[in-house]
Amino acid sequence: MNAFISVDMEGLPHIVSGEHLSLGKRLYDEARSIMTECTLAMADELHKGGVNRVIVADSHGPKVNLIPEKMPGYVSIVRGNPRSISMVAGAKGSDVALFLGYHAKPGTPNSTFDHTIDSAVLRTVKLNGEEASEFYINAATLGEQGVPVALVAGDKTLLEDDVSRFAPWAVGVPLKDSLGRYAAISPSMEECLKNIRSGVQKMLADFPKKNNLLKLKTPIELEVHFENTAYAEMASHLPGSEKIGGWGVRYKAKSMEEAYRVTQLLTFVAEGVRSSIM
Ligand SMILES: [Zn+2]
Repeated sequence: MNAFISVDMEGLPHIVSGEHLSLGKRLYDEARSIMTECTLAMADELHKGGVNRVIVADSHGPKVNLIPEKMPGYVSIVRGNPRSISMVAGAKGSDVALFLGYHAKPGTPNSTFDHTIDSAVLRTVKLNGEEASEFYINAATLGEQGVPVALVAGDKTLLEDDVSRFAPWAVGVPLKDSLGRYAAISPSMEECLKNIRSGVQKMLADFPKKNNLLKLKTPIELEVHFENTAYAEMASHLPGSEKIGGWGVRYKAKSMEEAYRVTQLLTFVAEGVRSSIM
């Protein structure tokens, strides 16, 4: 059995400050080590439970956060950025997927770093009218590939909101209880690692009978709403896209993978405009 882990940072325990989130920031090393420890606990418990190969997609920011030399022999790491289907690149062919360190979508109250993809340029992403979290985008992309998401570990608000709505079969492991966008109460690392391990055991005991695929109806109507009208203006030059007022662009995608690729494209366009005007 092969397992795929997509690991983000903002839903991990004790990660609450902008100083945690990017290369060179003062708390970045602390965040890398928390991310690596949580990933190791998840991979080790999968391996103990009979999974012989684990692919881990480092899925935050520059996507080179995990400390590679700490990974055991049965783990491969997907590293680097940009990637066309960003957080789930490398998952194809896996038997099961687990999400670690995931967080809630933009506008979720009391939720650390509520955003989807890039809060600097994107206000919201909608799929068939539904405001999408990163969980929703990634689980739907995997659903199209036939890979079930069987465990989500991260911010409690995401588990209570999107995970229970769209993947009620998945085991949820809360790693932090947010008090606001930049504050949370998290169990000790010892407790978090224990909870990740018992979540994996529960998932493996239930697998595969409880699992299901999140599949969206196609074609998918994608809407991307930006933080600046200039981003939408440039994004709307994509053939087949259409402006929605000043802030948004609409695009009809034949598949979830196409919707994801176009979202990535439009995000990078917006980031390009942002850096050109700064
Ligand atoms: Zn992230």
